[in-house]
Amino acid sequence: MPSRGRFPSSQFIQLSDWCGLIDCGEGAQIQMNNFHIKRNKIKHIFISHLHGDHVFGLPGLLGSYNHFNRKDPLIIYGPSGIKKMIDTIAEVSGAHYNYQLEIIELDHSQAGCIAISDKISIIHFPLKHRIPTIGYRFNYNEESINIRKSSIEEYGLSIEEIKSIKSGNNLIRHDGEKITWKAVADIKVISKSYAYCSDTIYDLTIIPHIQSVDYLYHETTYLDGMELEAADRMHATLGQAADIAVKAGVGALITGHYSSRYANLKVFGEAAKELPLNVILGREGLQIDL
Ligand SMILES: [Zn+2]
Ligand SMILES: [Zn+2]
Repeated sequence: MPSRGRFPSSQFIQLSDWCGLIDCGEGAQIQMNNFHIKRNKIKHIFISHLHGDHVFGLPGLLGSYNHFNRKDPLIIYGPSGIKKMIDTIAEVSGAHYNYQLEIIELDHSQAGCIAISDKISIIHFPLKHRIPTIGYRFNYNEESINIRKSSIEEYGLSIEEIKSIKSGNNLIRHDGEKITWKAVADIKVISKSYAYCSDTIYDLTIIPHIQSVDYLYHETTYLDGMELEAADRMHATLGQAADIAVKAGVGALITGHYSSRYANLKVFGEAAKELPLNVILGREGLQIDL
């Protein structure tokens, strides 16, 4: 439930100059204002499932884009039913959008890949929850040619030569000297990944999809001791999320989607200290540099 200082789910992700939004709970636009996120930068929206706490901010955002003079197309990914939801709201409210809106319904029963660019890809995979639900893994991979500092001095490389080598060229100097880029540079690989798993029951079958991600956001609706309630409502506890994170070898677990029964989130912080992995307490406005 929205409450003082606590909003339903929505996350903003930026990989290089590409930006996306993951879920769009009620109040997401207010938080975009509070945290200086420019709506128009969002190229794609990824909806996990159609429970209101993940999607009730979406109609408002789509309407606001008219006022923000959005020109770029917008693509929304989500489970089956999302097209009907958005189209019905547009129809009964008389909304029309001054930009190109595409809604792509994903098969929530199996994993797949969305290629955004040669560097960015998104894996979607099934989560087990009360209605069709999808998890997302965001991958960023970049290879670049990195010139060794010692080589710059050794060969007396000029700025023009450095630029040429960085583009993957070999050099032939005026005196006929050949310098291959491999002689002076290494391939630098930048690899970043982030996975979003909400909402879901404790489910070990997601592990292959989230293996070794740098950061895993996994819902922690309840504290330990509430496993029966969690299973009954198809949510997870902190301990269950941690177990999955450890088994998947993730860099860090980000918690969130706390039940409103916990008035103060300090209890999650205290419980997290006992866990055998790096846990970051998810909170409003938390910003993580991948
Ligand atoms: Zn849900
Ligand atoms: Zn939820």
